[in-house]
Amino acid sequence: MLYPWTKPGWDQLIKRHRDGRMPHALLISGLPGIGKLELTHSLVESLLCQLPDQDGQACGQCKSCLLMAAGTHPDAFSVSLVDDKKQIGINQIRELGTQLVLSSQLQGYRTAIIHPAAAMTHAAANSLLKTLEEPGPDTIILLVTSDPARLPATVRSRCQMVKLPVAEQNQAQQWLQEQGVEQPELALALAQGAPLKAIELSESNLFETRSALFDDFTDLVRGDLSPVKLAANWQKKNDQTLLYLLDSWLSDMVRLKFEQNPSNFSNMDYQQGLQGLAGLIQSRSLFGHLDRVRQALAWQEFSLNRDLLIEDVLIPLAPV
Ligand SMILES: [Zn+2]
Repeated sequence: MLYPWTKPGWDQLIKRHRDGRMPHALLISGLPGIGKLELTHSLVESLLCQLPDQDGQACGQCKSCLLMAAGTHPDAFSVSLVDDKKQIGINQIRELGTQLVLSSQLQGYRTAIIHPAAAMTHAAANSLLKTLEEPGPDTIILLVTSDPARLPATVRSRCQMVKLPVAEQNQAQQWLQEQGVEQPELALALAQGAPLKAIELSESNLFETRSALFDDFTDLVRGDLSPVKLAANWQKKNDQTLLYLLDSWLSDMVRLKFEQNPSNFSNMDYQQGLQGLAGLIQSRSLFGHLDRVRQALAWQEFSLNRDLLIEDVLIPLAPV
C-alpha cells in the first residue's frame, strides 16, 4: 500500500531498482505510523512481480502476485514477533538463513522482511550478520524499524538506510479528513506527523479521554495527585495513547518557554493550562521529561510495562 506521503520514497526505491542499484540489504526506518511496513510490502510485491506497471507497482495478476496475495510465495520470507513474544529470537533468524541458502523457486528475487527489526535479540542480530555478509544471489533483506539506533552498528553498517520523512502537513491533514478523522490537525500533531498513527489514536477514544487525562496530568505536576494513583486512574486506558498525549503536552510546554504565541502549537485549546504548568517546571527539566517520554514511546513496541512507565515517566514529573 502506497500513501501520498510515501510516494517520493517509493519512486526513489524503484529508480534504484531499475538502475540496477538495489542493495542486498535495506534498513527502512521512520516514525511509527508513517507506513514503513506497507511500503516494504509493496516493494516486495513489486520486486517479485513479473510485470510491474510504470510506477513500479505490482500488477496483481501474474503468477507471482497471485502467490503473494495467497501468502504462499516460495521466495518471499518474513520474520516478525510470534505469539506474545516481545523479541525476535536467534532460532527465527537461523531458520531464515537456512531458507535463504536455497535458490529462488520462481527464478527471480528472494526477499526477506524482518519487522520490527529492533526487536531482534543480540544473538539474533549477530546471527543475521552472517546472512548479511553472504546473502546469496538476488536476495534482498529488508529490515523495518522505527528505532534504528537500537540495532547493533555492525548490522546497520551492512544495510543501506532508507528513512521515510514526516508527512507534509497539509497533504496529511487532507488525507486524514478524507478518512473521516475528526480534528485532523490535532490528531496529526499528537501523532508527531505520522498519519496512520493519527488514525490509530483517533480510533482509541483519544478525544474523549484527553480532557480527563489532562486534569490528572495537571494535578500530577502540581503535586496534587501521586504518580501511582494517576497510573491507577489510567489503568484501563491505553498506555500508548497516554504517552502520545504526554509528549504533545510537554512539547507544547517547551514551546511556551521560548515563545509567547508559538506557531506550531498542538493543543490550542489547552494553551492557558499548559502555560501555567510550564511556569512550574524549569526548561532543563522539561527537556528531561520529554526525553523520557520519547524513550518510553520507542520502547513501548516491545518492552514497556506499567512499572517502567510509572518509574521512568510519571514519578519524575511530580514535584519532590
Ligand atoms: Zn504481478
